[in-house]
Amino acid sequence: MSSADTQSEPPLPSGVAVAQNLALIRQRILEAAAKANRPAGAVALVAVSKTHPADAVEAALLAGQRLFGENRVQEAQGKYPDLKSRHPDLRLHLIGPLQTNKVKEAVALFDVIESLDRPKLAEALVRERERSGRCPELLVEVNIGEEPQKAGILPADADAFIEDCRGRLALPVTGLMCVPPAGEEPSPYFALLREIARRQGLPILSMGMSADFEVAIRLGATHVRIGTAIFGARPPRQEPVTAL
Ligand SMILES: *Cc1c(COP(=O)(O)O)cnc(C)c1O
Repeated sequence: MSSADTQSEPPLPSGVAVAQNLALIRQRILEAAAKANRPAGAVALVAVSKTHPADAVEAALLAGQRLFGENRVQEAQGKYPDLKSRHPDLRLHLIGPLQTNKVKEAVALFDVIESLDRPKLAEALVRERERSGRCPELLVEVNIGEEPQKAGILPADADAFIEDCRGRLALPVTGLMCVPPAGEEPSPYFALLREIARRQGLPILSMGMSADFEVAIRLGATHVRIGTAIFGARPPRQEPVTAL
């Protein structure tokens, strides 16, 4: 292994580092909310534990964190059933693309699915609700920068899709989620997501990650999804670029 390879290996965060990072992020969330004249409890922190082991999640639980996010059903199935049985108040959000053949597993494990992004998935959730009697709270993911490689419903199609989900399909959609284009000033995208939520009367706005959560809070985020700033860097990996 070359020294460059060694350097790119992210260090495993110790439990202490996770607790310290969490304390710092909570403080920054409080300050950003105060600056925006929003109450202290207005912004929930979703700790994104993807690629990190159950030990890291345990360290966060020990530090009082109860809300977590994962982007892959299979990875979450390996970590969370055990954690949930030991911490019944743990809540888990799915923040990554959901294939229709994983809907059954996702509905059984997640409390909130933030990635409802197409009619086929909405219909699969309806079928699973009929079968199991269960449906998690849902957020509609909007492809806010209209990026071809990204999941999410296009902004121009969002209103009709949300209305169909809540009306005809009676799905429990409570808000919207987005990931703005990388390397661009995110505020116009956050503002656009807020505007769609406002005209649809949706209270939940999941927006803002490690690099931009303070901007998102200024623009109305009710949930920020933070991974790296809590658990440390993730090993690089190929992400599937589109949902099926
Ligand atoms: C990984 C991920 C996050 C967390 O990103 P960080 O930059 O590590 O904070 C948030 N949202 C989604 C959809 C993700 O996939």
